[in-house]
Amino acid sequence: MAISPQQVVLGIDIGGTNMRFGLVDQAHEMYAFERVSSQEVFAGEGELTQKLAQCIRSYCARNLDGQLPRAVSIGFPSTINRERTVLLQTPNISAIPDYFPVVESLEAVLQIPVFINRDVNNLLLFDLEDLEVKTQNCVAGIYFGTGVGNAILVDGKILLGKNGVAAELGHLPVYGNKRICTCGNESCLETVVSGVALERLQQECFPQTHISCLFETHPDAPQMQAFIKGMAQAVAAEVNLLDPDCVILGGGLMQMAGFPKELLEKEVHYYARKPYPECVLDIRYSRPNQANGVAGAAIYAEKRLADKNYL
Ligand SMILES: [Zn+2]
Repeated sequence: MAISPQQVVLGIDIGGTNMRFGLVDQAHEMYAFERVSSQEVFAGEGELTQKLAQCIRSYCARNLDGQLPRAVSIGFPSTINRERTVLLQTPNISAIPDYFPVVESLEAVLQIPVFINRDVNNLLLFDLEDLEVKTQNCVAGIYFGTGVGNAILVDGKILLGKNGVAAELGHLPVYGNKRICTCGNESCLETVVSGVALERLQQECFPQTHISCLFETHPDAPQMQAFIKGMAQAVAAEVNLLDPDCVILGGGLMQMAGFPKELLEKEVHYYARKPYPECVLDIRYSRPNQANGVAGAAIYAEKRLADKNYL
């Protein structure tokens, strides 16, 4: 199979643990999916731009005979400026400094268009296509992973906010919660309802049970039921705020064995405002696949290449 570099975009999804790569053509077909350890890429001395450029070049050496694609599109677990050029803050990857102008520096080295986006925005762009969401006036994506990822679509466009940092449900202050978040603030939602919070619950209450088996092994434990209630309150908060066409739920927690979707939905309905939006609430589930973020990054690049004003 010969892939023409001019026909494909290189999508990259950067996480705290792994970096995922794939070439995606305009028919949204993906080729040469690869996963490497983020630590391997970021390790050692040297400038971050050079490390990123190096891993992109070696991927292209393996899969494109050393040529570069039409564009590179990268999803970061970061807050990003509105113009989508600078990584503002990346709490879970210490190798990425604050205010890092990654687009300018990487374009100077690679000499091809480089696009960056919040990883969850790319996930939502992918899910909208994958789940064939028809009505896109307002859609909320909530991804319960290590933290709580959130992306919001309004009038068919990803909501950016004034500074590019809109849709941070995970950092919604929760009254009475005194815990300190990785973002530096006190009382953020994701300190009590997230993978990190679940890990703490496991250590405190169920030290004999592996975290991946918690839902399966202790479905009736009050602590687990309370945790689901907390997740439901987070979803309902967003639903009550936005009255969305649909809400898409995903992330690692939902994929754990025995995750009680029915209970979660029941609790979301309990906390959602009556009669609307509760009575017509449309909850959908992201289809887990580790290539989703890569595919979403490519969709984002296509939108940017097609429309200079799209952000
Ligand atoms: Zn926070």
